[in-house]
Parts: sequence; structure tokens; C-alpha cells
Amino acid sequence: KALAELVVGHVVDVPDFPHAGILFKDITPLFADGPAFRQVVDGVVDHHGRSSFDVVAGVEARGFLLAGAIGYATGAGVLAVRKAGKLPREVLAASYELEYGQATLELHRDAIEPGQRVLVVDDVLATGGTAEATLALIERAGGIVTGFSVLIELAFLNGRDRLAQRDVHALLTV
Ligand code: IMP
Repeated sequence: KALAELVVGHVVDVPDFPHAGILFKDITPLFADGPAFRQVVDGVVDHHGRSSFDVVAGVEARGFLLAGAIGYATGAGVLAVRKAGKLPREVLAASYELEYGQATLELHRDAIEPGQRVLVVDDVLATGGTAEATLALIERAGGIVTGFSVLIELAFLNGRDRLAQRDVHALLTV
């Protein structure tokens, strides 16, 4: 509850971004507030338990901010799940549908050791397309997704349904 309220207090609703009709949750004020950011990072780690993962994967770009902090706080490694064309070596790629068009995420083919346990983090879970593609990439690379955390889950979009059998954790559900 306290963490949910912390998120509520640091999110700005932006109408019609990036398209007309979308109410965008801007969580940059939460990242900018040092004590609040630390509480959120600790809250995510506490939920899953430090012993449940070996590395943290962040989804470009806001997920990187969370993953870097969690990696530093716990001593776990950090994986970058990137947008198409950014990673320099051989990649695995997963494409998914957006409201308008499609998007592709990539991960270095050798980024994960077989059986490595991965905690995946991002800022917002909306339709679940991003999360589903990220999980597919990690599993194809040989990893095991042991947890998934977001700051905000937009429950009316049912993204959680695409991540069946996973520990999907949101600090705030709206
Ligand atoms: P999904 O693939 O529809 O679940 O969208 C999730 C991805 O889009 C995440 O990587 C988010 O960073 C981004 N996203 C979608 N909606 C919002 C929002 O309202 N605020 C911030 N990011 C969002």
C-alpha cells in the first residue's frame, strides 16, 4: 500500500500522448526523487527476494533505469533488452503488434548462461506485448524468467493474461 501511494504521488497523467486518446502515465518524477526511487527499488527486490534471480533485465529505455539500480543494489548483473538495431553483435529478435504498426526487441544471443534466472523490470505494463516479447527472448537465450515487476499495471488492458504462470508484480494497479 505505501509503495502504491508513493507511485501515485509521483506519476503525471498526460492526455493524448503519444497519440490522441491515450492517457500516458509519466513516471519520470518518481525516478527524479531520490528517496522515493530507492524505496521503489528496494520494494521490487523485497517482493521477489534477492535469492530468486541471478540477473536483472531492463526493457529499453525506462526499464534500464530500474534494472541498473536493482543490479547495483543487489550485486546482480544487468541485461539490456533493446529496440531493433542497437546491439552490435548477433541477436535474437522478437516482434509484436503495437496499436499502430509493430515493434521489435532484441537481446544478444549469448547474453544469458543456460539456466540463469532473470528478473524482468519495466515501468508500465499495458497490453503486455512488450513483456511477452521480452520473456520469449530470455527463454530463447536459455534463461528462466523467475519474476516480472512494473511500477504501474494498466489492468484494463489485460496484459497480465499474456504472461500466464509468471509472478507478475505491480507496485500500483490502475
Ligand atoms: P505494452 O507492450 O502495451 O504492455 O506497453 C508497455 C511498454 O510501453 C512499456 O515498455 C512501457 O514503457 C510503454 N508504455 C505503455 N504505456 C505507457 C504509459 O502510459 N506510460 C509509460 N510507458 C508506457
